[in-house]
Amino acid sequence: MAKIALLDQSTINQIAAGEVVERPASVVKELIENAIDAGATAVTAEIKDGGISFIRITDNGAGIEKDDIPTAFLRHSTSKIQSIEDLLTIGSLGFRGEALSSIASVAQVELVTKTRTAFTGIRYLIEGGEEQSMTEIGCPDGTTFIVRNLFFNTPARRKFLKSAMTEASYISDLMERLAVSHPDISFKFINNNKTVLHTFGNSQLKDIIYHVYGRTIAAEVVTVENGNEHISISGYIGKPIISRGNRNYENYFINGRYIKSNIINKAIEEAYRPYSMQHKYPFTAIHFSINPEFIDVNVHPTKMEVRFHNFEELYQLTLNTIRDALNSTNMIPKVSLSE
Ligand code: ADP
Ligand code: MG
Repeated sequence: MAKIALLDQSTINQIAAGEVVERPASVVKELIENAIDAGATAVTAEIKDGGISFIRITDNGAGIEKDDIPTAFLRHSTSKIQSIEDLLTIGSLGFRGEALSSIASVAQVELVTKTRTAFTGIRYLIEGGEEQSMTEIGCPDGTTFIVRNLFFNTPARRKFLKSAMTEASYISDLMERLAVSHPDISFKFINNNKTVLHTFGNSQLKDIIYHVYGRTIAAEVVTVENGNEHISISGYIGKPIISRGNRNYENYFINGRYIKSNIINKAIEEAYRPYSMQHKYPFTAIHFSINPEFIDVNVHPTKMEVRFHNFEELYQLTLNTIRDALNSTNMIPKVSLSE
């Protein structure tokens, strides 16, 4: 008898889900990135129990056509790219077509959606990867996803979750970053029936910094603005006095995507070095807009890393931009630089 066999679809999806859906915050991230890609101008995230028992993401974006719904939940199904070359011009956050299939394979999912041209909305239920029902329903334009009982069918995964309070704090951090990453979108975050974040979506990054980080930080930031033919940089950086003992405030975004990059960290920290920044990390909220041809976003399933074709250039531009901004604010370095 043959010993090697192809796994069934639901097992394949559950295994794949391990890469994309690590915890409730990953579900919130994927669903909100989809809302952003759908052109939403307002997104509400509501969670209960740290998102473990209940997550609801509502957007006013394009909605999903009835006939597309079952396909959207298949692995590797996407409306965002057709071939790998499309990544050279990609403007969307998603493209791997993995989130919905992954989430639906490890949770109970309810989708309510309506496109602007459809007469009625659709309510679709899928649980552990198994379609339950699809019915017509009256609803506003846009999309709502409700995700209940994450990892209900994978107890081993569920055991790795932290307390509801800790999981909620991961989601809260994520919501803040999303708000800072998209000043043009109004975000609302409701945790256990309490609204804890609400941004206007008026495109004013400074307002969001005020909202998210408070008045003290917002009062001590300076503008950064620079660019060349394929990279442009804009945003705010904190004066050295508001530096922290960890990198949590070092935020930057590439083409609307929150990422982590050693190169950018290094450039930022090098720029602040004259200000006696040992073991201190600055506040930054910097948006990089980079020609997609110069980066590779397809590095990791969670898309938290980006490869740069010319990282030296990015490093230098970032360093110079921040250095100039710090120099021009007349701050006297605490360490005098002897010749
Ligand atoms: P990806 O985002 O990589 O395309 P997903 O599994 O996250 O893959 O989503 C599959 C598809 O479902 C998307 O390509 C999109 O067409 C559709 N979709 C998902 N969420 C939404 C939403 N909130 N509004 C409109 N369409 C959506
Ligand atoms: Mg997606």
